[in-house]
Amino acid sequence: MVKETGFYDLLGVSPKASPDEIKKAYRKLALKYHPDKNPNEGERFKLISQAYEVLSDPNKRDLYDQGGEQAIKEGGMAGGSSSPMDIFNMFFGGGGRTQRERRGKDVVHQLSVTMEEMYNGTTRKLGLQKNVICEKCDGYGGKKGTLQKCSNCKGRGVQIQVQQIGPGMIQQTQSMCGDCQGQGDSFSAKDRCKTCNGRKVERKKKILEVHIDKGMKDGQKITFHGEGDQEPGLEPGDVVIVLDQKEHSIYQRQDDNLITKMNIKLVEALCGFKKSIYTLDNRTLIINSPPGEVVKHNDIKCVQGEGMPVHKQPFEKGLLIIKFQVEFPEKNWLPEHRLPQLESLLPERDDIDISEDMEEVDLCDVEYESQRRRQSREAYEEDEEEGPRGQGVQCQTQ
Ligand SMILES: [Zn+2]
Ligand SMILES: [Zn+2]
Repeated sequence: MVKETGFYDLLGVSPKASPDEIKKAYRKLALKYHPDKNPNEGERFKLISQAYEVLSDPNKRDLYDQGGEQAIKEGGMAGGSSSPMDIFNMFFGGGGRTQRERRGKDVVHQLSVTMEEMYNGTTRKLGLQKNVICEKCDGYGGKKGTLQKCSNCKGRGVQIQVQQIGPGMIQQTQSMCGDCQGQGDSFSAKDRCKTCNGRKVERKKKILEVHIDKGMKDGQKITFHGEGDQEPGLEPGDVVIVLDQKEHSIYQRQDDNLITKMNIKLVEALCGFKKSIYTLDNRTLIINSPPGEVVKHNDIKCVQGEGMPVHKQPFEKGLLIIKFQVEFPEKNWLPEHRLPQLESLLPERDDIDISEDMEEVDLCDVEYESQRRRQSREAYEEDEEEGPRGQGVQCQTQ
């Protein structure tokens, strides 16, 4: 039992979640609420980052499970140690380069992919809006040589306002110059580039072709180097596509293995069966359990080479793992007088000696809810010290 679940709730996972599940939950939410995508959800982005910072660290997670958020604060492990952006950049691997100042920032997008697409491989086209250096003015912003010192701010890029706020008291406030957008120089209206309106960049749509190779995994990154926003004097950052594998109705994936459930009837479990199953590339497999085999309830078996293709070695495939569920017939499915006939075919039952001093009892279905109600009624009656005692479980005979 954990003390509180706030951080787990923020990430939408259970307190029993594995490190992988926590990573995945953070990945999805961080991309959804990143300020680039969702400027109004800055607070939420911060909270998600904080929760992830604690839950992704085994020591901090332990501390949180035992003592809640309070313990994290008292242990000096509050989320203040890294900024939400640091956590994000570390997670999505934008880091690792030292001269980050000379590059624009990386943009991370999530791309939903079906399991079929990851099995077969595909190419997806992704339309992105990005800033591109204005072709008309080459990112200069206007006619060459006509850049003038801003007359409003005299080239300082800032405006200083002086305000009298009381007798003999003045207040100075400094703000970005609106005329030149803080640049310190600007073009006169006639020299300004008409295409970009002096902004040096244009917003353009760019189509990226994302090649999803066979066997790629959930959370895998595909990097388009230098496809981020362009800005004069700055090397553009990367566009990073993060694959997000959709749930599948039949298959679950575990690395290169595929897992599925199969219901079989009791007769199939005992006498063998052939059952069909669709593969992710639309073939039909006949699963064969020959007569003589017995498949038990919850048995797990596999078919080799019918799992997911291995990334970069697509001719190798993982396992197709099948978890069997045996469907038993309902009660009274066979007239009572025919049961001996069935019994004669089944393995023999164990004999039991019943003597006079033994008590025979009936089996009932377990109903926790009615048991709980009954117990609370009993407790109440004990408090009152009157009334008849509870009646105990009653079997319903039909
Ligand atoms: Zn100015
Ligand atoms: Zn221009």
